[in-house]
Amino acid sequence: MRVRFWGTRGSIAKPGPATLRHGGNTSCVEVRSSDGTLVVLDCGTGAHALGRELAHRSPTRGHLLIGHTHWDHIQGFPFFEPLFTPGHHWSVYAPGGRGRQLEETLAGQMAYEYSPIDLESLRARVEFHELTEGTLELGDIGIRTQYLNHPALTLGYRLECNGATLVYATDHEPHTLHPEGAAAATALIHPEDRRHVRFLEGADLVIHDAQYTLADFPAHAGWGHTPVERAVDYAILARAKRLALFHHDPKRHDEAVDRVVATGQARAREVGSPLEVFAASEGQVIELPEPVSQGRPASRRGRSALLSQAVAGAARVLIVDDDPVLVTELEKALESEGVRVERATDCESARRAAREARPGLMLLDLRLAGPDDGLDICRALRADPDPALARLPVLVLTGARVKESDLVDAFAAGATDYLTKPIKPTLVRSRVRGWLLRAAARV
Ligand SMILES: [Zn+2]
Ligand SMILES: [Zn+2]
Repeated sequence: MRVRFWGTRGSIAKPGPATLRHGGNTSCVEVRSSDGTLVVLDCGTGAHALGRELAHRSPTRGHLLIGHTHWDHIQGFPFFEPLFTPGHHWSVYAPGGRGRQLEETLAGQMAYEYSPIDLESLRARVEFHELTEGTLELGDIGIRTQYLNHPALTLGYRLECNGATLVYATDHEPHTLHPEGAAAATALIHPEDRRHVRFLEGADLVIHDAQYTLADFPAHAGWGHTPVERAVDYAILARAKRLALFHHDPKRHDEAVDRVVATGQARAREVGSPLEVFAASEGQVIELPEPVSQGRPASRRGRSALLSQAVAGAARVLIVDDDPVLVTELEKALESEGVRVERATDCESARRAAREARPGLMLLDLRLAGPDDGLDICRALRADPDPALARLPVLVLTGARVKESDLVDAFAAGATDYLTKPIKPTLVRSRVRGWLLRAAARV
């Protein structure tokens, strides 16, 4: 596979003399495989220059994989020339939530008020596909998708071709920074962080969000990005070979990005890791050798990533909390996801509601005023003879200053995930939608 960076900047384009080396355009990465399959990862402002090059060249068949639809990942879409070139054929993929959201969202940014051209003006043959977690085959590339942790439903993409592996994981926040202050590559305590590492396993190249450092992360917690030290930890734990730091903060000029790279390299050296750490830079080309011809990559096994409308439909969430203000807040956030909310305040009412309403997810406050604390409810659920209750995903709600021991206890009691208060509506929406789609896919 041949990888070329067209946009590496996070959040907003930042052209100018201070960003010449690492680039000012937002997310866009071109991937070509040995049989000529063309995949474009994200469609930020970097897609403009790529589109100019592609419009008059072959192949005219391409696949555009969007991680999520925040502006910095789709602003190049209305300026991507192949979409306006007759004879081209493009398939556009992005995480699906409810209904035909992808087309609506892309049409939204091209509405009359914002754009002189609309979605109807595309002259190429363009198809839209909504994705969930699973696998997909595009030409000789096997692709696996997995949700990332971001305040919008976001997918990471793992591409495998003839023994070469590339992982694209941007706009992702660690599920927890615990254990804090630990040495590089210390074992992770959150099952979702361990799942993330498995997604990166053995990759020849990982392109990973590294917008922050541990020092500036606290001011940006909940914004959905990774401190470089953690990106390095993940890559080391996954035994990846190379790590391209990506989604550079728009506040960092080239020398500041160099300092982030130095921090990452020092982190790898600390544990004697051979991991190569560098900053993804606009225009950079990386060849990933394909050692096995016509291999059968692991990415081709498993459930299809294409989202069926049956899975994307209505869903229920059970909220177990005795704070009416918080429950109303959560209900409001989830309404926009088309989620029906059931309420309970103690162990008995929670089990009854779970049995009757068959929710796809439980949100559980760890500290309840009544006799049952959150962990008791969690343990009771896991011991329930009804398998739907025993394996119901439980997202626990904790105080902002959660201690590591509290998390270890919660996971030991059977919790699946956690969110800290105050609850950020965008984060709760994307996290709940991700868990509901996973739960629906299991049925
Ligand atoms: Zn972004
Ligand atoms: Zn984003």
